[in-house]
Amino acid sequence: MNSREIRQSFLDFFAAKEHRIVRSAPVIPAEDPTLLFTNAGMNQFKDVFLGKGTREYTRAADTQKCIRASGKHNDLEDVGRDTYHHTFFEMLGNWSFGDYYKKEAIGWAWELMTDVWKLPKERLYATVYHDDEESFKLWQSETDIEHSHILKFGDKDNFWEMGETGPCGPCSEIHIDLTPDGSGGPLVNVGDHRVIELWNLVFIQYDRQADGSLQPLPQKHVDTGMGFERVTAVLQGKSSNYDSDVFTPLFEKITELTGVRYTASLDSATDIAMRVIADHCRTLTFALSDGAMPGNEGRGYVLRRILRRAVRYAGTLGCHEPIMYKMVEVLVRTMGDVFPELEKQQPTVEKIIRAEEESFLVTLGRGTEIFNEVVAGMKTSGSTTISGEDAFKLYDTFGFPLDLTRLMAAEVGFGIDEEGFEHCMTEQKTRARMDRKDKMQVQDDGGEWQWFAPEAPTEFVGYDTLETSATL
Ligand code: ATP
Ligand code: MG
Ligand code: MG
Ligand code: MG
Repeated sequence: MNSREIRQSFLDFFAAKEHRIVRSAPVIPAEDPTLLFTNAGMNQFKDVFLGKGTREYTRAADTQKCIRASGKHNDLEDVGRDTYHHTFFEMLGNWSFGDYYKKEAIGWAWELMTDVWKLPKERLYATVYHDDEESFKLWQSETDIEHSHILKFGDKDNFWEMGETGPCGPCSEIHIDLTPDGSGGPLVNVGDHRVIELWNLVFIQYDRQADGSLQPLPQKHVDTGMGFERVTAVLQGKSSNYDSDVFTPLFEKITELTGVRYTASLDSATDIAMRVIADHCRTLTFALSDGAMPGNEGRGYVLRRILRRAVRYAGTLGCHEPIMYKMVEVLVRTMGDVFPELEKQQPTVEKIIRAEEESFLVTLGRGTEIFNEVVAGMKTSGSTTISGEDAFKLYDTFGFPLDLTRLMAAEVGFGIDEEGFEHCMTEQKTRARMDRKDKMQVQDDGGEWQWFAPEAPTEFVGYDTLETSATL
């Protein structure tokens, strides 16, 4: 099956079980100031779980565009280095709003995976929350999974929470052993790419109170999420998401643009760069198509940082001109029918990405030279920690986000004095404040009081950026 057929077979399976197939919500959450990006399929149903909203259906399924590059869910650092974490991915999900519960959720998940998709049963593992005897027994009675493959884990892995307060409950996950000899059982939940999590079934049954206590909800809900790129790779017999047809057209394009070929090696520098570029162009294209803009704070700065990382990785492939904007076309071609906003926004998205690339390319070369000089100087002095002042100079003068400098430093085995960097940021903030105070003073002395700069002053950009990067 190709990826398009796999996505469709998931939706068809749940449509046949009377689920309403709904559209993905935008990746930019409309009414949730607590969230920079949609990071799970359940986000658009949060109000239903909280009892604040209703839908005209009690069963739903979809593929949800997700971004995990900030806040509680941030997989940015894993991208390129592993085979199964992306900053942008699709989460296939099915939901019950006070309708069916654990028995059906578990039974159907197993049916889809083993009857419809024919995944090898002996390689599947189910995890359950250590207190959830009900799910443990249902895995035994509703499926023919090997009983020794039902494993219990605690809060960290098998109790899902939306946030500090709100809906939550035990979850049960399906993992697959991709080790050549099928000996990966002990690797479930240790974060090894040879045994990966495919599907999370969350049983929402409590409302976490501000005092930490669990209040049972009047209704019980099911909220599931399966990584589309992961299941596609597995069904296509690949050990890496990047070897599936979700990503191969992107690699072909990168090769066309740079002349570099993808060899699917985990630690080759050019392969890492190609995975990062392929991942980041998806994140940027989908986020911008939903109306986000690169900028200096919050969501916009997350996108700008992602773009700058990608531009720098293109540089490691020997490419010093804008290429990311030329990749939008691949996504329109391969995914435009499922996500029509891609085609609709294509000209705008290309224009924005190109402008961002061009602007960073102006300073990237000189900044990289400075970085290399700093590193060379340190090699002679024997130090391995780049000073806060140097990191700040790269940030302030050459537009290098701290995480980019950190990454470049790590590549040569160096670290960064991050406290020193923050100290420089604080100083800049203070200077900006003093500057503003002086200007206001001038106005004030003039007699009549008025704000000199009633709108958010541009001199605070650095400060906002610090706050953003510090909390991400
Ligand atoms: P992992 O433990 O692998 O990081 P997770 O437990 O953080 O995954 P969930 O929050 O349970 O993931 O999300 C549901 C499903 O979404 C996961 O089972 C996985 O298949 C998929 N998924 C999660 N994060 C990513 C990602 N960064 N890229 C691709 N797929 C993902
Ligand atoms: Mg995770
Ligand atoms: Mg997990
Ligand atoms: Mg999980």
